[in-house]
Amino acid sequence: MSKQTHLIIAAIVAALLIYQFASCRKSEVPPLIPPPVEAPTPTPEEREARIDQNLAADKGAEAQRLAIAAAEVKRDQREAAMARTRTVQNSVLLSRSAVWESMLASNRTAMIETRKAAAKTPGKSVPCPVCKASSYMPCLVCATTAKPGVCTVCNGTGKNFNDLCPACIGSGKCFSCGGTKVSVCAFCDDGEIFSDTPMPERFLKSNAQ
Ligand SMILES: [Zn+2]
Ligand SMILES: [Zn+2]
Ligand SMILES: [Zn+2]
Repeated sequence: MSKQTHLIIAAIVAALLIYQFASCRKSEVPPLIPPPVEAPTPTPEEREARIDQNLAADKGAEAQRLAIAAAEVKRDQREAAMARTRTVQNSVLLSRSAVWESMLASNRTAMIETRKAAAKTPGKSVPCPVCKASSYMPCLVCATTAKPGVCTVCNGTGKNFNDLCPACIGSGKCFSCGGTKVSVCAFCDDGEIFSDTPMPERFLKSNAQ
């Protein structure tokens, strides 16, 4: 073979190699990503409506967040007040013990006489002279104060500075009678005194207990 033939064969081989390389590269080219479909441009009205919608959603979320926070504060205040309720109520009852003791003393003789009288009746009972058979008597915690029915600790505000009043836990009502100004008569059994009706307890108790 002549030198020229060699050159031609070499050229053909080179051309084939180039062709193969090029076609190979071509097949490696990833498929073209379709161009994104452009959303239609919103009208000014649509844009405004969308802004309003977003604002309303933001407001709703904010209101919800505030409501949850407020509920948490209320729950914490309630728990803090309730932790002190028993102590504060007991100190109020203790402060009224003089009223209760004088009530007991002034009715003691009448109670003894009434029980004796009850023993002599066929039903062994007589109407209670203390409550006049109504079975209710004035609330010993609040009835003789300037504002009957009202919590004596917070004066009806339900508050103790920024916290809830521990005595009424925010209701502003007398904890013993719940604002009714009356409590169940401690001397009788539903308006009646029997021959064996016990004397009331020496210590004043909350009507709510
Ligand atoms: Zn009574
Ligand atoms: Zn109170
Ligand atoms: Zn009361």
